[in-house]
Amino acid sequence: MTIPAASSTTALSGGRIPLIGFGTWQLQGDAAYRGVRDALDVGYRHIDTATAYSNEKLVGDAILDSQVGRENVFVTTKCPPDHVGRELATLQASLAALNTDFVDLWLVHWPPNGEASPETWRQFIAARDSGKAKAIGVSNYSIGQLDELTDATGETPAVNQIPWSPFKHDSHTPGALRERGVVLEGYSPLKRSDLGDPILVEIASAHGKSPAQIILRWHIERGFVVIPRSARRERIEENFDLYDFTLSSNELQQIESLAL
Ligand code: NAP
Repeated sequence: MTIPAASSTTALSGGRIPLIGFGTWQLQGDAAYRGVRDALDVGYRHIDTATAYSNEKLVGDAILDSQVGRENVFVTTKCPPDHVGRELATLQASLAALNTDFVDLWLVHWPPNGEASPETWRQFIAARDSGKAKAIGVSNYSIGQLDELTDATGETPAVNQIPWSPFKHDSHTPGALRERGVVLEGYSPLKRSDLGDPILVEIASAHGKSPAQIILRWHIERGFVVIPRSARRERIEENFDLYDFTLSSNELQQIESLAL
């Protein structure tokens, strides 16, 4: 059954998150502004940025200018690990740059000093309780580090944003996250893939799609959130044009056999 774009979301404590989002790492200046405008124009309703990307102002301007309405866009930003001790000031700066009163999801970008850091997580809980972040989560955390946060605070991150693609996945992580009620959000789905791989090329040609679209459709069918980035309008369109075909279980298995 084809998943319609409009209902392509997954549950997240505090609401729902669109499965496909637009990544903005390394997009600067007009590429950032234009990229977000194009993405919203094409139909994306989920934008991923970070303090470290230095493009929150451009992202905020693009959302405001798009007329889509802030309330209709799921916005994620991230707190750099070296902002420990000034987390809430960092969030305030993000909100000012994005020109919004709240973000939909705020993530600890990396474990501070490689540690789970329950102190940082307590600040995130306070931000969520204040309404400035509708949901809170982490990025680049191990399962053990997630459990440390839960054990210390009684609150489990809603999301773990991690590198994920057919070439960089494992069979253990999705179940471990699901058991804990944590959404798996994958990053670098294309950069970490061989788009010329013969298995992908064959599946793509069987569906009249591109290898990139096969990778992104795999995420959606498996319920993984995915946030591809492109600076080119035609690829921004291509990466969202995923809803008119389905992958068979045999194809899903072939794609999963690509893990390195
Ligand atoms: P990505 O989205 O996997 O790949 C981006 C690259 O793929 C760009 O070079 C882009 O080139 C190219 N591309 C895009 N669409 C394509 C298509 N249809 N066919 C062929 N090539 C295509 O990589 P990413 O930016 O690393 O990851 C995505 C997002 O995840 C980031 O933007 C960021 O928001 C997030 N992220 C988070 C973390 C973290 O630590 N939490 C780390 C990395 C990334 P063109 O621009 O020329 O199209």
